[in-house]
Amino acid sequence: MNDPGAFRRPDAAALTRMRSDGSHPEFSVVIPAFNEASGLADFHTRLRAVMDPLGSWEAIYVDDGSTDATRAVIDAIRGTDGRAAVLALSRNFGKEIATTAGLDHASGDAVIVIDADLQDPPEVIPELVAAWRQGFDMVNAQRRVREGETPLKRLTAKLFYRLMRHAGPVKLPTDTGDFRLMSRRVVDAIGQLRERHRFMKGLFAWVGFPTTTVFFDRAPRHAGETKWNYWRLWNLALEGITSFTVVPLKLATYLGLIVALISVLYAAEVIVKTLILGNTVAGYPSLMTVVLFLGGVQLVTLGVIGEYLGRIFNETKYRPLYLVERYEPSRE
Ligand code: UDP
Ligand code: MG
Repeated sequence: MNDPGAFRRPDAAALTRMRSDGSHPEFSVVIPAFNEASGLADFHTRLRAVMDPLGSWEAIYVDDGSTDATRAVIDAIRGTDGRAAVLALSRNFGKEIATTAGLDHASGDAVIVIDADLQDPPEVIPELVAAWRQGFDMVNAQRRVREGETPLKRLTAKLFYRLMRHAGPVKLPTDTGDFRLMSRRVVDAIGQLRERHRFMKGLFAWVGFPTTTVFFDRAPRHAGETKWNYWRLWNLALEGITSFTVVPLKLATYLGLIVALISVLYAAEVIVKTLILGNTVAGYPSLMTVVLFLGGVQLVTLGVIGEYLGRIFNETKYRPLYLVERYEPSRE
C-alpha cells in the first residue's frame, strides 16, 4: 500500500510522447492556446523563422477547449508544417493545466513554454537557448516593461510578488510569466508534480536547478483579448498563496490570540467598572461592536480554513489533470 507512485503517477499520455520511430527533436515549443484563432498563423510564421536556425524542433499547440476556430487554424498549420503537433483537451482546463499537458507531451531535450498571443516575442528564444547551451537548466524570460497594462494591474502584480517573496519557502522571480526554457530534467521534475491546484510559477521555482534570467520587452497583445480579469487574477493570487504558504492559517491563529487578549482586558475593565459603579446597563454600542467584530473575525478565519480545506478536497480525488480529446504528434 505504501506506493507513493500510486498517488503521483503521471497521466498515461506522458508515456507516449516519443514518436513512433523513437526519434525526438532537440527543442519542443509548448503553446497553450485558448480562442487564439486570430493570431496563431502569424505566431507560427514568426516562431518558424526563429526556430529553424536553432536545430530540430517541434511546436505543440495545446488547444485548451477553444470555442472559436483555433483547432482549424492549428490543423491548417499542421498541413503546411509537419513540425506542428496538436494536443486538443476535452474542454477548457485553464492555462496552467494546458501548459502541463503540453509539457507531458514534449519530447525535446529543451522545452520552451510561450504564449500564443505574441506577448512573449519568439525572437527571445535564441537567447534562452544560448543560456541553456551554457549549462543552465531553467531560463526565465523576464519582462522589462509591462506595456499596455493599467497602473492598477501593475501595482497589484507588484504587491503580489512582494507578498509571495516574504511569505513562502520558494522565491518567485518578479515579473516572470510562464515564458521560459526548461531542460529535460526540469521538465521531468515538473511532470512529477501532479497537484490539481497548479500555480505554475511556484512549481517552476520549486524544482530549483541552475536558473538564469533573460530580459525582454513585453509587447501588448497582438490579437484577440486577454482572458484575465481581476477576478481571475485574484484567484490566481489566492492559488499562489494557498499552494505555497500556510501564512494565512498562522495569521488567523495570531489574530484570534490578539482578539482574545483584547477581550480579556476589556472583560477586566467591565468587571472593575461594575464593582466601582455598580450594575449599569450602559454599553450597548460597545457590546454590539465587540459581537460584530468577533463574528467577523470568526467568519474570515473559517473562510481561510475553507480555502485550504477546499484544496485538500480537490487534491484527494486524484483525478487526472486533464483529458485529451485528440493528440497528433509532430511528423518530422
Ligand atoms: N490560455 C489557455 N487557457 C485559458 C486561458 C489562456 O490556454 O484558459 C492561453 C492563451 O491562449 C495564451 C496564454 O494562455 O496563449 C496567456 O493567456 P492571456 O494572453 O489571456 O493571458 P495574459 O497574457 O494576459 O497573462
Ligand atoms: Mg497574453
